[in-house]
Parts: sequence; C-alpha cells; structure tokens
Amino acid sequence: MTVYADNAATTRLSDKAFNAMQPLLKEVYGNPSSLHSLGQQAKTLLEQSREKIALSIGASPKEIYFTSGGSEADNQAIRTAAYIGKAKGKNHIISSAFEHHAVLHTLDALKKEGFEITLIKPDRNGLINEKDIEAAVKDETCLVTIMMANNEIGTIQPVEKIAEICKEKKVLFHTDAVQAIGHIPVDVEKIGCDMLSASGHKFHGPKGTGFLYVKKGIILKNLIEGGAQERGKRAGTENLPAIVGMAEAIEEAVSNLESNMSRVTSLRNRLIDGLSGIERSFLNGDRKKRLPGNVNMCFEGIEGESLLLLLDRKGICASSGSACTSGSLDPSHVLLSIGVPVEIAHGSLRLSLSEYNTEEEIEHIIESVPQVVDYLRSISPVWEKIKKEEK
Ligand SMILES: *Cc1c(COP(=O)(O)O)cnc(C)c1O
Repeated sequence: MTVYADNAATTRLSDKAFNAMQPLLKEVYGNPSSLHSLGQQAKTLLEQSREKIALSIGASPKEIYFTSGGSEADNQAIRTAAYIGKAKGKNHIISSAFEHHAVLHTLDALKKEGFEITLIKPDRNGLINEKDIEAAVKDETCLVTIMMANNEIGTIQPVEKIAEICKEKKVLFHTDAVQAIGHIPVDVEKIGCDMLSASGHKFHGPKGTGFLYVKKGIILKNLIEGGAQERGKRAGTENLPAIVGMAEAIEEAVSNLESNMSRVTSLRNRLIDGLSGIERSFLNGDRKKRLPGNVNMCFEGIEGESLLLLLDRKGICASSGSACTSGSLDPSHVLLSIGVPVEIAHGSLRLSLSEYNTEEEIEHIIESVPQVVDYLRSISPVWEKIKKEEK
C-alpha cells in the first residue's frame, strides 16, 4: 500500500486536468502569439483559462497574470510593491517569520537593496495577530505580505482583518495563498487583498505553473523581460498545457470545495485523534484554525528524518518540518517561530491529506506511526534521558 500524505509538498494531477492538457501537447500546439488559426486556437484557450481562474477567486480576467509557479508569483508581487514604495520614498516592508522561503528570501534580497524588513512573530498556536501588524505599520511602510495558510503547520491567518488595516493605512497587502486555494474558500474581494499568489501543483494541477492576482490599477514590475506576453508583464511563450490543466484543476477544486473540505477535515481529525495517544507527542498549530488536510506533530526524543525513512518503508509518504541544508540538519524555521524548542522541532512529522486519501489509509498511518516512534525511542539516548528525568 502506498499512502500519499505529502499534499502540502505537491499533489497528484487530477484526471480532469490531465485530460484537458493532452490535446495541447500534440494537437493544439500553436503559439498564442501567432496569427494563424492554430495560434489563435491556443490564444482562445489561454484566455478561457484566465477567465476560469479569475471566476474561481472572484477576480476579473485582466487581474490574472500567469507565472511559473508560486515562487515566481511571490517574487513578482513583493518586488512590485517594493519598487512602487521606493518611488514614493517608502522602504519598509512587514511580513511574518514563518512565511515560505519564496517570500523570506525575496525580503532578504530587498534588505540588501536598502529596504527595512519587519518580521512579525506568530503566537504559540501559529497565528498572526493583526494588532501586531497594525502596531508595526509606519509612514515608510509600503507593503504587508502575510500568507493565507502556513505550508508546514496549516494555520489559517486573519487575512481579511489584515487587509482592512492595510486599506486604512494605505499600504499594499499581498498574500501567499498557495496552500489555501482549492482547499478553503478564497475570494479576493472578500479578503480585500491587493495581490495574491497561487500555484497549480498544490491543488491537483500540473507543476511549473501558477498565477498572480493583481488588483486593477496596480502596475506590475517585470521579473522577466522579452516579448509582450501577459500584457508585457511576464515575457516568454506561455506554458499553455499547464495553464489549461491548472484552470481545469482550480475549477474542479472550487466546485467540490465544500464536500472535499468536510471529508478531508474528518480524515484529519481521525488522524490527529489517532496519533495524540502517543506519549509525549503534541500537535503543532491551532487545532481549529487550520487547513482541512494538515496534521503536524512533534514526538519528543526522535529525529524527524529517521521517522520519515521508516514510514516510507511502510509505504507512507510524509514530510518533516526540518530541511536538510548543506549537510547540517536545521530545524524548521516555522516550528522555531512558534516557539517549539530546537530539540523537539527535530522530531516533527507533517502529514498533509487530500480528497484522494481513504479511511483505510488513515488507519494504516495510525497503526504505523506509533510502531515507528516506539522503535526509534527504544534506540534513542535522548528518549532514555527524558525517561530518567521523569523518575
Ligand atoms: C509550494 C509553496 C510555494 C511555492 O510554489 P511553487 O509553485 O512550488 O514555486 C510558495 N508558497 C507556499 C506557501 C507554498 O506552499
């Protein structure tokens, strides 16, 4: 049995998206910029995809720009707001300490260009308090960028309240909604954001494609110069098969949103309850304000990496909070930002579910994780120490 529980990393392509993409690869392969009929057929499909995507998030088609994915959309949104600010003499940006690296590393680069960056700390439950944002805004602030849902611990942020504050203070607000779209309701009007990033492969679309919503009136800054594609704001021949697949996937996800949410939430709750019995384990992130499919737990006295390898042998594809950077094992910046101690952050496990998971698979995980945790603890000097201290 292979249980795929790593949907926050990427998702399987939906059948509908796959079927929609096929003709684009071998039949309708024209360049949307070509004037002949094959090109114009491609152009029509491109614009239909833009309409579908716009409709699914409550935007207008002119406000949708295709990108190569969530990372590019984040980069372009942040640089756009930064340079708009700079032209007005504003150089301060507010974000949070547990954003995706596509946001954090762009901010690092802007810091070197002279911008001042304030990173708000989430609370112990993984939630940003909008009052902290309000307090951090100053005359020089040109952008607030806060993710809609965190990719590691799944916590859902108060983006509507943050947008309201930004509107009042006349500061641009961007949200990375990559983990949210297709999983919880996302409506740009309701949120009130100026820009929003999305990625196709996080909602059962193909990889290497995404989009940026940019509210009418905001002039995007190019990251890539060249042809006049995307109204001159993103050069390069469009990845039409992927764009068509992404449009199909978002439409499917949004039309099944309610039933998927309730099914996935109940699988998640079963999983959290099933794993919470493990001694010295705890859930990371707020239990209620979290994505339907996200489970993130820490188990004291073990290493997340060993846990993953042993779970993989039982057919379970999961992820740990920590990333392996150049040989040294750094614990997750997300877990550290919410105050999980370093030694405990090493023992984290993220299981991210989708509507393709079954109850049987959840039971398999509930049976396997305690076995693996027990085994790892039986050979762990750290666990031995913890047990000694208990006595
Ligand atoms: C996956 C992810 C990204 C990056 O998207 P890509 O399409 O893989 O570039 C950005 N932000 C969040 C929150 C993500 O989960």
